[in-house]
Amino acid sequence: MEGCNFHCKFCFAPFASKVLPFDSLLQIICKIAESKSCSAINFAGGEPTVYNRLSELIKFAHKCGLKCSLITNGYNLDDNLLKNILPYITKIGLSVHSFNEETKKAMMSCTNNLNTLTNYQLSEICDKITASGYDCKIKVNTVVCSLNKDENMVSRIKQLPIDQWKILRCQENTRDSSMLVSNDAFLNFCRNNKGFDGTTIEDDMHNTYIIVNPQGDLVSSITYKKYGNVLHDDVDMLLTKYPLRIDKYNEREHR
Ligand code: SF4
Repeated sequence: MEGCNFHCKFCFAPFASKVLPFDSLLQIICKIAESKSCSAINFAGGEPTVYNRLSELIKFAHKCGLKCSLITNGYNLDDNLLKNILPYITKIGLSVHSFNEETKKAMMSCTNNLNTLTNYQLSEICDKITASGYDCKIKVNTVVCSLNKDENMVSRIKQLPIDQWKILRCQENTRDSSMLVSNDAFLNFCRNNKGFDGTTIEDDMHNTYIIVNPQGDLVSSITYKKYGNVLHDDVDMLLTKYPLRIDKYNEREHR
């Protein structure tokens, strides 16, 4: 999806300047659903909630038989958006990289006006999803970078009604290389943040998932190499060209 309302220094997502017309996005979803290889779709970004017809896309993907999930920084996840997507979605991943307001601002996990998703707002979102009665799992994603590497986050994580905490490492194609952490620092963060049963650690994301960008190009994870365009090419044919690490992909899917 297009752009983002946050400006995280460790972000590695290339933001699209243009998004295809809505009908083309529906067509892409349709082709993904009709392919033999895909049964699920994850709406991610950039920040998917900045696209104002996101809930319509999710509803359509669900109607096409795809299992839908969403990754978001949570800032735009208001009652109305939650109401419109919860019936159609099986998992919401919330990107939370610190529980300290100063750290969030230092890493620019905030808007232009330095507004963050506060810890209170995060708890509220989790509580609303849980109280909704829909079978929607909640995941928190945390990228370990040079600014949060020494933070103890697990005690707060344990207080949230979440199913999974995924700890990722700042990737080498981050927009600010001062955010990178050494292997030791990453392992140290993981060691210091043990104690939540639903923790998964992801160090290497190369070719572990498949991305369709806002222009319909099928691109690889991390390097964003293009393999063709979903709008114009056959999805199953494109996937034969993509060196997906199927074991890693399945691990991600079933977590
Ligand atoms: S919220 Fe996600 S997409 Fe947006 S800047 Fe931060 S890491 Fe990048």
